[in-house]
Amino acid sequence: MKTQLAHFPLLKTLDQFDFSFQPSVPEKQVRELATMRFVAHGENVLLLGPPGVGKTHLAISLGMSAIAQSLSVYFVSIVELLEQLARDAAEDRLAARLAALCKPKVLILDEMGYFPLDRRAGQFVFQLVSRRYLKGSIILTSNKSYGEWGDIFADPVLAAAILDRLLHQSTTLNIRGQSYRLREKRKAGMFGEPGEAGAAS
Ligand code: ADP
Ligand code: MG
Repeated sequence: MKTQLAHFPLLKTLDQFDFSFQPSVPEKQVRELATMRFVAHGENVLLLGPPGVGKTHLAISLGMSAIAQSLSVYFVSIVELLEQLARDAAEDRLAARLAALCKPKVLILDEMGYFPLDRRAGQFVFQLVSRRYLKGSIILTSNKSYGEWGDIFADPVLAAAILDRLLHQSTTLNIRGQSYRLREKRKAGMFGEPGEAGAAS
């Protein structure tokens, strides 16, 4: 029941994550996060890195660990959130959306940074992060480093204010390395090894 309410795009567990493929992901730290102790203090987890390195997989796995401990979880991608906000604004329901997103113990915001947020969405995210601050955890994934967050939000001051609250009590995992998505293709010889002449030709 809680798994359905969490609205995961697909189910992924920590046991399905190959830590040996992505050595920049500290297994011990991830397993500690999976105990969900950080949720008791409303702390946040930020997973940063390029596409395909397992950010969404890890975010869902942590969400599933939370559910195993009977914590409420809600997963939403930023693109979805933007679509919801456009509808909500038209129907004058933004306050209800904000209240709903403040309820789950763990809110997963996936893929921050692929799309710019307009002023309304930026202000909404600011309110969301402020209201959940130290009360409800956020697990956020992003392809952008913190220095690039000014580009996501039209307003750099707003971006700084959001980051300030998100990062205050938080753990950041900076994931570097190869895309797991491309691994199979690379194996099949569709890509050369990195740095190899003629790769991906
Ligand atoms: P990201 O969100 O960083 O773009 P995903 O988490 O969506 O990447 O990962 C892409 C795909 O590769 C998913 O199907 C995911 O389950 C898988 N994957 C990524 N990294 C690993 C890994 N280290 N071990 C096993 N599967 C992985
Ligand atoms: Mg992702």
